[in-house]
Amino acid sequence: MFWDRESEILARPLLERLQLGHLQETVRRVARRVPFYRQKFAEAGVKPEDIKSLDDVRRLPFTTGADLRAIYPNGLVAVEAHEAVRLHTSSGTTGKPKAVFFSRRDIRNSAELMARSLVMTGVTNKDVFQNMMSYGLFTGGLIMHYGAERVGCLVIPVGPGTSERQLMLMQDFGTTAVHILPSYALYFAGFLAQRGVNPRTDLTLRRAFVGAEPHTEETRRRIEQALGVDVYNSYGLTEMNGPGVAFECEHKAGLHLWEDHFLLEIIDPAAGEPLPEGQPGELVLTTLRREAMPLIRYRTRDITSIIPEPCLCGRTHHRLNRISGRTDDMLIVRGVNIFPQQVERILMSMPQVGPNYVIILDGLDDMAVKVELAAAGFDGDVEHLDTLRRQLVEKLKTELFVRPNVELVPAGSLPVAEGKAKRVIDRRSL
Ligand code: ADP
Ligand code: ZN
Repeated sequence: MFWDRESEILARPLLERLQLGHLQETVRRVARRVPFYRQKFAEAGVKPEDIKSLDDVRRLPFTTGADLRAIYPNGLVAVEAHEAVRLHTSSGTTGKPKAVFFSRRDIRNSAELMARSLVMTGVTNKDVFQNMMSYGLFTGGLIMHYGAERVGCLVIPVGPGTSERQLMLMQDFGTTAVHILPSYALYFAGFLAQRGVNPRTDLTLRRAFVGAEPHTEETRRRIEQALGVDVYNSYGLTEMNGPGVAFECEHKAGLHLWEDHFLLEIIDPAAGEPLPEGQPGELVLTTLRREAMPLIRYRTRDITSIIPEPCLCGRTHHRLNRISGRTDDMLIVRGVNIFPQQVERILMSMPQVGPNYVIILDGLDDMAVKVELAAAGFDGDVEHLDTLRRQLVEKLKTELFVRPNVELVPAGSLPVAEGKAKRVIDRRSL
């Protein structure tokens, strides 16, 4: 099906010319309307008229999450108070959240991008779309909702709710697409198995959109197998509207970042310098069409890289590789850098292992991984259990260069978070 095909396949020179125009306009607007940026530009010795090419974006200062918190609640707003119609905040667990304001046009644009993303995977107005993400201040609820509604789907705004209720709605209304946290999707698959529900024959699910937390290719495959659906990776963050920033197309080979709305850079997080195309680094985004709260060179802290080759689908917007972690997710254990995703990749490739795990750092610098067994993963033979445990230790050691303790626990025994999964507990006395 067709959505905004013309914008999706714009030739790169045209796309870049469009970006430059929007960048210049954005920079002029924030210099005029946002004292925070006026001052930052002055400190960096840069004026709006200095932005003559897309490369000139590098002359502009970064904006960080700390800036957003420091200027909370509304220091970055670029419209009159009455022009803002919606507030969302990031799910930040400590201190003040990051507040993001939307104008009417911002809401319309985010719904358009969301609709474009869904249609790209084959969603149509015949779909019944069950949104299992939290509604409220978290963008995963409302922004996705508006996009699916824009496509014309029948949208079921259930939110997280109990698995019982999710299943009932799926059966009663013939749900074909879900928006769901990957950690919850794995859990939900276990719930279905326990209930003796075979999603391939007993449900009408065809697609699952998963995002909001880092997850691995192995996790995607697991969800696909367990639910009998196509799983698409959906990337977004509150600071950039929420979901609908980058999304996989039908080829499921990297996420197209909507470059007519966001200017993309990948930088070395330590040096702040741009990296050559294809190298992994921190994703930095500048909003190109945001009205209520434009952000210049926002440091997402998410680590990814550009896939330089054009996509088979013909869309010209660059693709990003799956987010491998956040700069602040990195653990240093015994002097070695470790990302929780590395652990997940190993665990999820083992069929005997269940969906839930937690990494515990303790004592001086000890690493332990508590791993749930799959529901059918333990045949009662303690020796098999010990073999599996030893296998996991060896695999993890080869991947991480640190030998963790592995503890296998019964299926369903680790706590399940209400929202995003918490995979690391750091109790070190370092
Ligand atoms: P918070 O930063 O408080 O979690 P958000 O709810 O806005 O706030 O979450 C956005 C973050 O979630 C992103 O910056 C990224 O780290 C993570 N995220 C979102 N989608 C994905 C995805 N598809 N893959 C990996 N990480 C993701
Ligand atoms: Zn594509």
